[in-house]
Amino acid sequence: MKDRIAIIGGGLGGAAMAGLLQKAGHDCVVYEQAPAFTRLGAGIHIGPNVMRIFRHLGMEQQLADFASHPDYWFSRDGFTGDYLSRIKLGEFAVKEYGAPYITVHRGDLHELQLKLLTPGTVRFNKCLEHVEDRGDDVLLTFTDGSQETASIVIGADGINSRIREALLGVEPPQYSGWVGHRALIRGDQLRRYNLDFEKCVKWWSEDRHMMVYYTSAKQDEYYFVTGVPHPEPDFEGAFIDSSKEELFAAFEGYHETVQALIESAETITKWPFRNRTPLPLWSSGRMVLLGDACHPMKPHMAQGACMAIEDAVMLTRCLGETGISEYATAFALYEQNRKERASRVQAISNANTWLRTQEDPAWLFGYDILNVPLTEGRG
Ligand SMILES: Cc1cc2nc3c(=O)[nH]c(=O)nc-3n(C[C@H](O)[C@H](O)[C@H](O)COP(=O)(O)OP(=O)(O)OC[C@H]3O[C@@H](n4cnc5c(N)ncnc54)[C@H](O)[C@@H]3O)c2cc1C
Repeated sequence: MKDRIAIIGGGLGGAAMAGLLQKAGHDCVVYEQAPAFTRLGAGIHIGPNVMRIFRHLGMEQQLADFASHPDYWFSRDGFTGDYLSRIKLGEFAVKEYGAPYITVHRGDLHELQLKLLTPGTVRFNKCLEHVEDRGDDVLLTFTDGSQETASIVIGADGINSRIREALLGVEPPQYSGWVGHRALIRGDQLRRYNLDFEKCVKWWSEDRHMMVYYTSAKQDEYYFVTGVPHPEPDFEGAFIDSSKEELFAAFEGYHETVQALIESAETITKWPFRNRTPLPLWSSGRMVLLGDACHPMKPHMAQGACMAIEDAVMLTRCLGETGISEYATAFALYEQNRKERASRVQAISNANTWLRTQEDPAWLFGYDILNVPLTEGRG
C-alpha cells in the first residue's frame, strides 16, 4: 500500500513541510481548518538560516525581490534613542551566513510558499477533531464528519495542536504575562515627519519594547509589534482590537519616533503571548510534531516560524534516511537533531534578550540545516 503522509495545519511550518516532502518525491496532503488563507496584517523576519532553505525550495529570489533587506538590526534605548547594538545584516549577512536577512509581510511569504505546492495539496475547511493511531495506520476525523487515513501524521497545527493533545493530553498553553500590539502603517504616512524610520529597529526599555520594520522592498508598508506586560486578557481567540490610547499610555515618554508610529498606525490589534515549557516527547507511534505545536515561544527573537521551517527540513531528511516505513527511527532521529537548538531558541526568545546588546548571531544565522551532519544516539 502506498504511504500516505498527512500534515495537520497549513501555516508557515506545514506549508514548508509539504514543499520539502514533495521536493523529496513524497506525496502528502495538508488538512487545514481555515476556509482559505487571508493576508493577516503582520510582518515577519526571515533569517539567513531559513533563506537558505527557501533557496533549496526554489523561492529565495522571488521572496528576496519583494522583501525589505535591512543592513542592520538596531537596538535603541526607548527613551533616549541611544544605540544599544548595531548588528550587521545586508551584504554582511550574505557573505558571512550565506544568505540574506529579510523582513516581509507574512501573508506574502505564505502565499509564495503555497504556490510551490502541487495543486490540491491543501484541503481547506478540514478541522481535525479526533485522531486515532490504530497501529497499522492513523484515522483522522474532522469536524465536518469526514474521515481520512494516513500512514504517518505530522502535527503542524500550532500552539493549540490537536496532535500534541493526542500525544500528551489536554493542557492549555500558559499565558506569558505579555501581549504584543501589532499595526501596519502606510509608508506615505511617515513622510510628514522629519524623522529617520530605520529598516529594522527595536526600541527597548526595562519591561517593554517595540520592534519596527518594513514589510516590502518598496517600503510602502511599515510594521510594528510590541511586547508589553499585561494582565491576562479575557477573551477567546488569538487577538483583540487595541487602540492608540492604549499604546500612547504603554509607551509614555518613549522617543518621538515611537510616538509618530503610534500616531500613524491604522488598525491596532493586541495578541496575548502564550507558550509552553519544552515537551517531554515530540512523537509517539505514527504521529510527530513540528513548529509551534512542538515548541511555541514568545516571538521576541523573530525565529518561531524559522524554527518550524528548520524542523520541516530535519524531519524530511530523517524520513529520507530511514524511509517512511521506519518512521519510528526517523522521528527519534529528528528529535535528537532538533531538540537542543529549538529549545535554546525557545529559551532566548522567551527571555527577550536577543540582539539587545552587541552579540554575535552566527550560531543562529549561519546554521545550515540542509547539510549539517546528523547525530545519532543523543536525546
Ligand atoms: C506577534 C508575533 C510575531 C512573530 N514574528 C515572527 C518573526 O518575525 N519570525 C519568525 O520566524 N516567527 C515569528 N513569529 C512566530 C511565528 O508566527 C510562529 O512560530 C509560526 O507561525 C509557527 O508556525 P506553525 O506552522 O508551527 O503554526 P501556525 O502558524 O500557528 O499554523 C498552524 C496552522 O494549523 C491550523 N490548524 C490548527 N488547528 C487545526 C486543526 N485542528 N485542524 C486543521 N488545521 C488546524 C491553523 O489554522 C494554522 O493554519 C511571531 C509570532 C507572533 C505572535
